[in-house]
Amino acid sequence: LRERSLVVRYQPIVRLTDGAVVAVEALVRRMRADGSLESPDVFIPLAEQLGLVDEVDYAVLRRSLSEMAELAALTRRRLPVSVNISASELDDGLEHRVLDALSEANWRPEHLVVEVTETALAARTDEASRLLRRLRTHGCRVAIDDFGTGYSSMASLVEMPVDILKIDASFVHRIAAGGRSLSVMRAIVEIGRSLNLKTVAEGLTTVEQADLLRGMGCDRGQGYLYAPPLSMEDLIDYLRPDQALMVME
Ligand code: C2E
Ligand code: MG
Ligand code: MG
Repeated sequence: LRERSLVVRYQPIVRLTDGAVVAVEALVRRMRADGSLESPDVFIPLAEQLGLVDEVDYAVLRRSLSEMAELAALTRRRLPVSVNISASELDDGLEHRVLDALSEANWRPEHLVVEVTETALAARTDEASRLLRRLRTHGCRVAIDDFGTGYSSMASLVEMPVDILKIDASFVHRIAAGGRSLSVMRAIVEIGRSLNLKTVAEGLTTVEQADLLRGMGCDRGQGYLYAPPLSMEDLIDYLRPDQALMVME
């Protein structure tokens, strides 16, 4: 952290009906001494153990809001950005950090999505839901990440203050096989729709998956089919051809 070794990449999230980029997710990497990038799956758990993950998440939040503000100045459009927040951070401190970062970057809360994993929510229900409710009062949106991998009951899903359901890639990868996997996916998308949540399918890699999900009424997709996590320069290039399709929601 002290060596400013964190790098943020941005993965486009597209609307399945027309492929328009409607948001990006900020994904952190750690730059090693040799210049190669280390996956967050390696160092985020370590940062959690060391009690440093709050600092990592705050650094990523500030960096992504300031970079998205730069991008907005360039393209004259504000692209909503999703940031991942660790379970250990779901306390009052997070509310203050979010508000500070928003005002520092002059970024509207409506254009920030806070992603929390289903597992994190299930572990800290009361405190977490109070905090997320307050973030939503400020105008931020909340997404449940990796939905389907945790053990939240249907009852807690109904009560959770969330706006977006991100369906875990493991479900997406199985749907091509048809049968029961397809039925389970259809049921998850239906739950999202009936609770008035936007549904996002994670880890889309084939056109066939995208077609199936669109057919089920899933709203958005994210995955290598569209783009991997991109550097700011690559994101600007990626957005260029479909500027006309970049929309605000
Ligand atoms: P996540 O939030 O579920 O992010 C999606 C992960 O799936 C990302 O991995 C992304 O690169 C990867 N991905 C996207 N599309 C595809 C695809 O088509 N195929 C495959 N195989 N993978 C795809 P990444 O960037 O390695 O991040 C892993 C996890 O690390 C994230 O999962 C998130 O839970 C965590 N993470 C990332 N950045 C942060 C952060 O700033 N703070 C915290 N607390 N956690 C973070
Ligand atoms: Mg995420
Ligand atoms: Mg996920």
